[in-house]
Amino acid sequence: MNSLQIEGTDQPHYADARQIQPLSGESRVAMLEPEEEPMVQSSYESTESGSDAGDALARLEELSAQYGIMPVQLPRSTCSVPAETLLRQLGRMTAVEQPWLPVGTIGPLLIVGHYDPRHQECWGVPPFLTIRVLIDPQQYHSVMKDLEGRLRIKPIAGHNSAEGMPAPPQTGKVADVMNWFLQYYPQSDRDREKFRKLIAENDDCDFSNLAGLKFLPRHYGAAFLSLATGHPVYNPEEAPAQTHFPDGLLEKHNVYPVFCGHQRIFLLSSVTNNYAFEDEWLSSGSDAVEMVTVLADPTAIGAAVARNRGRSSRDKAKVDVGDLYFSDNTSIVEIDPTEMARVNPQNPNNTPEQVVQWVLNRAVQARASDLHIEKYYNTARFRARIDGELVVMHSTGEEELPRYIALIKNYANMPQERQKLLDARFAMKFGTRRIDARVAAVPCRKEQQKLILRFLDKQDGVKELSALNLSERQTSIIKRTMNRDQGLALVTGPTGSGKTTTLYAFLNSVNADNINIQTIEDPIEYEIEGINQTQTDPVHGIDFPNGLRSLLRADPDVILIGESRDAETASASINAALTGHLVLTTLHANDSLRAISRLLSMGVEPYLLADALALSQAQRLVRRLCSYCKQPVAPTPEVEVYLQQNGVLSGGLDDPLYQAIGCDECNNTGYSGRIALMEMCETNGEFSELVASSAPVSELRRVALKDGFMTLYQEGLVQVIGGNTTFDEISCLSYTSSGLELPS
Ligand SMILES: [Zn+2]
Repeated sequence: MNSLQIEGTDQPHYADARQIQPLSGESRVAMLEPEEEPMVQSSYESTESGSDAGDALARLEELSAQYGIMPVQLPRSTCSVPAETLLRQLGRMTAVEQPWLPVGTIGPLLIVGHYDPRHQECWGVPPFLTIRVLIDPQQYHSVMKDLEGRLRIKPIAGHNSAEGMPAPPQTGKVADVMNWFLQYYPQSDRDREKFRKLIAENDDCDFSNLAGLKFLPRHYGAAFLSLATGHPVYNPEEAPAQTHFPDGLLEKHNVYPVFCGHQRIFLLSSVTNNYAFEDEWLSSGSDAVEMVTVLADPTAIGAAVARNRGRSSRDKAKVDVGDLYFSDNTSIVEIDPTEMARVNPQNPNNTPEQVVQWVLNRAVQARASDLHIEKYYNTARFRARIDGELVVMHSTGEEELPRYIALIKNYANMPQERQKLLDARFAMKFGTRRIDARVAAVPCRKEQQKLILRFLDKQDGVKELSALNLSERQTSIIKRTMNRDQGLALVTGPTGSGKTTTLYAFLNSVNADNINIQTIEDPIEYEIEGINQTQTDPVHGIDFPNGLRSLLRADPDVILIGESRDAETASASINAALTGHLVLTTLHANDSLRAISRLLSMGVEPYLLADALALSQAQRLVRRLCSYCKQPVAPTPEVEVYLQQNGVLSGGLDDPLYQAIGCDECNNTGYSGRIALMEMCETNGEFSELVASSAPVSELRRVALKDGFMTLYQEGLVQVIGGNTTFDEISCLSYTSSGLELPS
């Protein structure tokens, strides 16, 4: 079996594990009797009583050395959703009391955990499709409990499709493993065909390392390389928090430890030797310890390091006072996250710079979109908007507030005047990561000021269409719209609903040599190569209407107008859209159909709008369920009926719904990150006629629904069914629904 091997150790059971034939017992199915042979007490259990965490780790390490299997302290004590899905795809019911338990996945491979490696049964999943890791008995039992709950909601098949599947060829070549995968791995014909294409299109790549396998979906490259070479492999998303190495060092070498024992450290890396990392670690005066390299996807390792940083910035218990590094560069503020981790924000001797940089660092690590600095009673308060919710990051005495404000205004080269509304920006560097901040200064009562910072992450600024999580219908609408030679595309939604990200992704999808793209924006949030971006500038008289007029002289094919705020801009946009330009703009409206009536109320001629309009889109962001702790719940018949009545379900639900729980990964909120819901109304014959005759919204909706249109609420319900969010998160959108009561 594909256990994590350690070279040079005695491994009575698992030496050259890949060659071990499946045991006859593995073909047993649920109907058979449980395993009768009593298990010998493992060395683990015999010393278990009165243990603490340290002892448990030491015993894990001892067992690991004995059996040659990597020990892991799982970041969660549940079966992950992908692991459950893969178990259903590859396995079948088991009657054994203590089988290996699915805890995670690595692309097509299932990570299974047990506290006693002498057990064999693994749900009939062929050994070469599993990665076996040692976990402690407590985690084993909680995963077991969780899995039992999941299988009660939706039972697993009595036989498995992977049974009798031949083992991968032992030729050491990834290409051979890919062919084997295509031929034998249980998957849908569609997936198989997708893979075949992907491999055929990239057959000139170097398959001997992970860099050459980048074209594969995440983790597949690492999994295939491991299947071909026998090198151990693991998924960085399933690695626990670490405090053993400085985050900066891990980031520099793109490695991450899975398990730090006294004798051995298991290190995730995308290459098989890490001498440079080991040298640097040893040269800092650390004790020599054996490092075992475990292959992993390079992008996922980077994400694990970033996640660990985010965790340590939340954890106040570990911070203590240290020195700060100031940059000479005035336009870029350099903030070292490792240094910041040493600042104790409660220390009264901190300078205002230390406090401000500590807060900036913490807000950015927590993926905040905005930071508010304001007076609140007798305090100076820092609040960050994280996943749409304001959270207090820090507060000090109110007498400090003017210093914080002066400092940030200094970063952004803003005048220190208090009575004016001011706008400016500055850049921050956190290690290799650059984030820009747009600063707005607002005068408040009693000569006070408030600052609002908006963070713009250059790295995830411009997305590909494929990164927007669009449905097939949505993707084809966007492609049709963006390939038109003229027309108007409207995007509506409140501030902070991700409109800009969406528009940039749309623009980027047609960004090519033969197309001239011009924008007029306020502000330019991200700079995109190949797109001509103009910033509105009231001082020099550039606003949306006259900016657009001058843009039209620049021979554009595609135009983005940041916002159609007034009748003049709206009419000019529509004229441009009727004269050979594809025009994209945003508008304030509650949904995609009301955007149409809003334009009409601004004085746009209905027949012109009917001719010009290609697409009206509305969007909202809702919080995404944390993948580490979301829990399945069986849907009640009432919920099924509700979903059917809302037109998003025909028949029953095959899969459970999920509820928010809360864990360390998500700061106990149950949610992590956000997803965009998009309501898209593509205009066609009958619909255009209705627009031309200024038909009411209800009439527009009736016709749109015939054409496959889904409201924001329906799009939200689809995400609930998909296990990505909850009824609670989308309840604020229910005004766009049928008005039925949600059963409790
Ligand atoms: Zn969580």
